[in-house]
Amino acid sequence: MRNFKYYQPKTLDEASTLFAESGANALPMGGGTDLLGILKEDIAGPEKVVNLKSVPGMREIQYSKDDGLTIGGQVTITEIAESDSIPEQYKILTEAANVIASPQLRNVGTLAGNVCQRPRCWYYRGDFDCLRKGGDVGFAVGGEDKYHCVIGGETRG
Ligand SMILES: Cc1cc2nc3c(=O)[nH]c(=O)nc-3n(C[C@H](O)[C@H](O)[C@H](O)COP(=O)(O)OP(=O)(O)OC[C@H]3O[C@@H](n4cnc5c(N)ncnc54)[C@H](O)[C@@H]3O)c2cc1C
Repeated sequence: MRNFKYYQPKTLDEASTLFAESGANALPMGGGTDLLGILKEDIAGPEKVVNLKSVPGMREIQYSKDDGLTIGGQVTITEIAESDSIPEQYKILTEAANVIASPQLRNVGTLAGNVCQRPRCWYYRGDFDCLRKGGDVGFAVGGEDKYHCVIGGETRG
């Protein structure tokens, strides 16, 4: 693994400054369940890792009829699955949150990290110089693509 500097900003301003200073050389971290693997496998080599856990105001779920549903990026998958603040019309969200990965990963993994996780692709995650890593070839096109997408979804005719 390449060396990086680890930051735990305490305010949004502090976090914003770190990202503004470093651009793509700083990566945000939620629960780290995907990011740490990516760093270990050398898929990404940022200079800075910025853990957003201590930034206030990013771990709230709010609903109002006028503004709809707002979920902070640091809300965990378990918190989404168990929230009483998510109304019935968004039931599909709580259903999905309940079946992601395992309880341990749901307890740590965040909404932002889930949405921004890197592609689950054999070639991207493996030792291939693929298109997503700056290479010239998208090996998944025409290659092995098992488990690259939602498994167990119904086929609608
Ligand atoms: C064994 C296993 C099984 C899994 N099964 C499923 C599954 O069935 N369904 C599913 O959906 N997922 C699955 N996952 C993926 C899992 O849901 C993600 O690892 C998790 O949600 C990532 O959340 P995190 O907070 O740990 O993200 P991190 O690991 O912290 O970050 C993941 C990525 O998001 C970026 N990121 C994090 N926070 C922010 C932010 N605030 N803004 C912008 N970018 C950000 C990071 O830089 C990184 O690139 C599985 C993972 C594992 C290891």
